[in-house]
Amino acid sequence: MKAVVFRGPGRLAAEDWPRPAIGDGEVLLRLNGCGLCGSDIAKIVDPATRTPAVFGHEVVGEVVTIGAGVTGCVIGDRVVAAHHVPCGDCHYCRRGSETMCRAFKASNLDPGGFAEYVRVPAPNVRHAMFRVPRHVTDEAASFVEPLACCLRAVRRVRIERGDTAVVVGLGSIGCLFVQLLRRAGAAVVGCDPVAERAELARRLGAAAAGPPADAEAAQRELSGGRGADQVIVTGGGADVLPWAAEILRDGGTVHFFAGGAGDALPLRLETLYHRELTVSATYSSSPADLAEAFGLLTAGEIAVDRLVTHRVSLGRLAAGVELMRRREALKVYVTP
Ligand SMILES: [Zn+2]
Ligand SMILES: [Zn+2]
Repeated sequence: MKAVVFRGPGRLAAEDWPRPAIGDGEVLLRLNGCGLCGSDIAKIVDPATRTPAVFGHEVVGEVVTIGAGVTGCVIGDRVVAAHHVPCGDCHYCRRGSETMCRAFKASNLDPGGFAEYVRVPAPNVRHAMFRVPRHVTDEAASFVEPLACCLRAVRRVRIERGDTAVVVGLGSIGCLFVQLLRRAGAAVVGCDPVAERAELARRLGAAAAGPPADAEAAQRELSGGRGADQVIVTGGGADVLPWAAEILRDGGTVHFFAGGAGDALPLRLETLYHRELTVSATYSSSPADLAEAFGLLTAGEIAVDRLVTHRVSLGRLAAGVELMRRREALKVYVTP
């Protein structure tokens, strides 16, 4: 089969890759498509990423082979499958740190979503695979995983009705956050220098959106001068922290949804302590987050139809990566 193989920083090549064989409890999917995620791009440019590798984890496909003992699906079903699954029973899992479970990272889709076929391991089939109803498109279904990650973050920052939340970076993830934070009862301010992105965020429910100076003024007004209760950072890395700390109310939370390679956080301990600020982060999502995201998407509660701006074939994945890096694309959807 064809797969796009990572061969070193910035180097992606469409190559022949062995079609995976499945075992008991497993399922083979023929890919309909896979979303390109910011975390895929971070790995593609990182010199520390091991080679060869096939990325892609926002997977939608059709069940073509079923291993012995699988009961939840039949051949021909259209499904989404998540790539990481926790054990559900260890110290980490029992305390809500499912994405830090030792089994979590060992449970990858094989080889990854940028391929013609993927093997879904047995724990993923059991706990993180969902049958997509007819009325939901492939592209919409591919948002189950990113939406689940955002849900986890929104739960972690504990939104209360009447909060003012600022979302930094209005790419596809920022646009999901705008909607989730609003549903949770916050007045949302989007921050992004790109005018079309700010406009889309307003259409999706942000009370205001614009470049940093505008966002700063808007959150001040909405919070009655107190400052934002939460700042969610989806892009910009550590550089955003001093600004975020400045616009947060005393006791507020800044949440990092992405890691910047090599970045250290520039914040005075005195500020953190005396103003009782919280710096938090979430990585990936749990099966419960995925189930909740699947429910929201299939019920049409979260709008994703404007978020895919570019579609590329597997062989043109590198071009899709460039579109995202130049911030020309909100979301790139990759099809075999
Ligand atoms: Zn992702
Ligand atoms: Zn566990």
